[in-house]
Amino acid sequence: MDIWLHNTLTGKKEKFVPGDPGRVTMYVCGPTVYNYAHIGNARPAVVFDVLARVLRRHYTLVYARNITDVDDKIIKAAAEAGIETTAITRKFTDIYRTDMAALGVDAPDLEPRATDHIPTIITMIERLLDQGHAYEADGHVLFDVTSFGAYGRLSRRDREEMIAGARVEVAPYKKDPADFVLWKPSDGTQPGWDSPWGRGRPGWHIECSAMIEAHLGETIDIHGGGHDLIFPHHENEIAQGTCVHDGALYARYWVHNGFLNVESEKMSKSLGNVRLVHDLLAEAPGEAIRLALLRGHYRQPLDWTAEGLEQSRKTLDRLYGVLRDLKDVPGLADPRTAPVPDAFWAALADDLNTPRALAELHDLARHARQCLNDGEDAAILRQAKADLLAAGALLGLLQADPETWFHQAGAVGIDPVEIEALVAAREEARRIRDFAEADRIRDALAEKGIVLEDGSGGTVWRVAGQTL
Ligand code: AMP
Ligand code: ZN
Repeated sequence: MDIWLHNTLTGKKEKFVPGDPGRVTMYVCGPTVYNYAHIGNARPAVVFDVLARVLRRHYTLVYARNITDVDDKIIKAAAEAGIETTAITRKFTDIYRTDMAALGVDAPDLEPRATDHIPTIITMIERLLDQGHAYEADGHVLFDVTSFGAYGRLSRRDREEMIAGARVEVAPYKKDPADFVLWKPSDGTQPGWDSPWGRGRPGWHIECSAMIEAHLGETIDIHGGGHDLIFPHHENEIAQGTCVHDGALYARYWVHNGFLNVESEKMSKSLGNVRLVHDLLAEAPGEAIRLALLRGHYRQPLDWTAEGLEQSRKTLDRLYGVLRDLKDVPGLADPRTAPVPDAFWAALADDLNTPRALAELHDLARHARQCLNDGEDAAILRQAKADLLAAGALLGLLQADPETWFHQAGAVGIDPVEIEALVAAREEARRIRDFAEADRIRDALAEKGIVLEDGSGGTVWRVAGQTL
């Protein structure tokens, strides 16, 4: 079934038609590695991870997400800490990878680092200079925006808005205030590379264009990132990337995720409301954080709340509760490749409608629960379980062992070892027919929100409200 994506460039939802179905290319602007990633940075990582999973169902995908490891913010952080920039970038690259993995984000196929592409960047700038799209001034090389007629098309801004919005330095050496830096000089303390324009470093925008050309080619299928990158970053990427390739299309589909706020406020250092993924992972399972990020449609703003995270955790308790009750039903093939139910696929294929997909996931779980209650035969139970797992896999959810989910103490905030000891004590009390003691233990657990179910295979415990 076709995949539809909203394209920022046209402002419309369009059928996805790749240039080469045998090699679909997607590039997403990755992190600038000088600090811990906050939950807003995690949103594109998770959203484009789901998109990659969807695309891989039909195509061979090459997904690249870069690491920006040369940038003025990194230089500043290194100077403040009194250490080399590489010490900062290595540390935070590792932390980023670990944090995203904890959110169930698959590593992209390629993770190019800007500093590994300096010769490519320099060559690209030389070509732009030769073509008359760039000029050298005062040790800098600048892109001449007046040389590209379609400048402003992606962000739909007029010139005045672009100049105001770019917040570019009004530098005397610029021919036009909207011109942007391709190369800038580095002093002795700053990281720098020899170039035809002296020792210096690249501007941010050209890094992405050079890495795209090096790994994915002149025209890519999908270019993604957060909404804040549309202008100036992506506008500038289009300008230089199109010009350097003599007008070739730069990206077929531009996909942008909406911004994330915290408890209805913009995340900011001054408000003290910046939620780091690293800290959140100490409070909640990564899968609950991932689900909380997928509850809203990716293009809409998302309000991150403590309550939303708690609800996500409870939702997963419910879903894993069904899977736990299906534990004796043998699984089918690998959930990553097993067929997914049509309605579930249709939701994700419709511009990655994760709220609708989650509603479908609930229906699948409800259906599985019903099949269990009705004592359906093995084949039906197998199919119900396979559907639930395959749908979960597409969202990057429900792939853990249900026991592991329930037994990670963080899942319910109660120590599972303690619960199991009480369950065992109650079973012993029943064995010696001390029913008063058995009831006392049951009530004590009920007060903690733990429900016991006695079955032929013994007693199982679950968190109250977890059954569908
Ligand atoms: P940065 O490391 O600042 O370059 O950002 C990495 C990615 O996170 C980019 O795609 C940004 O658009 C995205 N991003 C940053 N802040 C937020 C936010 N509050 N909500 C959603 N996405 C964000
Ligand atoms: Zn970029």
